[in-house]
Amino acid sequence: MVTSNYIAAPDDEDCVGCGLCAKACPIEVIEMVAERTDGKEKKRPVVDRAFCLGCGVCGLKCKPRAMRLVKREQRVLHPETTFRRTVLQCLDRGTLQNQIFASPHSGTQRFMRTLVGAFLGLPPVKRALMSDALRSSFLKAMEGAVRRQGQGWVVDL
Ligand code: SF4
Ligand code: SF4
Repeated sequence: MVTSNYIAAPDDEDCVGCGLCAKACPIEVIEMVAERTDGKEKKRPVVDRAFCLGCGVCGLKCKPRAMRLVKREQRVLHPETTFRRTVLQCLDRGTLQNQIFASPHSGTQRFMRTLVGAFLGLPPVKRALMSDALRSSFLKAMEGAVRRQGQGWVVDL
């Protein structure tokens, strides 16, 4: 799933609490939460920012234009090729080491799987890999390694 560089952000002032945005969201990440203001109960939409795709479908349904798309604080890196997309997905899922060191019969590869998996799972490494610049260099290095291997992207040890 590729997200856009935007994220849904409802404006509480303009929102009338109709809930149309929540019904329209294709991945159901908007929850209508009841709130009491001035003795009246009103529902307001709360967007789960961890899952919002920034597709804008919710905003199209909002008549008072209270549901807006705002720029994400962190730019999303869009993979240009299937290879890059696969590497990024594996990085996000923490399974890259299984793809690189894929041989079930090699003791060295088993060792490397564990080592690289532990390294990639370290919080500072994860944080660093969130940066676009580092991800781009990492993907280029991966592509170079695969080209040198010239056969899929399994590294033979
Ligand atoms: S569609 Fe607009 S007005 Fe209705 S709940 Fe969503 S943000 Fe509020
Ligand atoms: S931008 Fe898309 S994914 Fe995000 S809340 Fe709106 S409809 Fe849902």
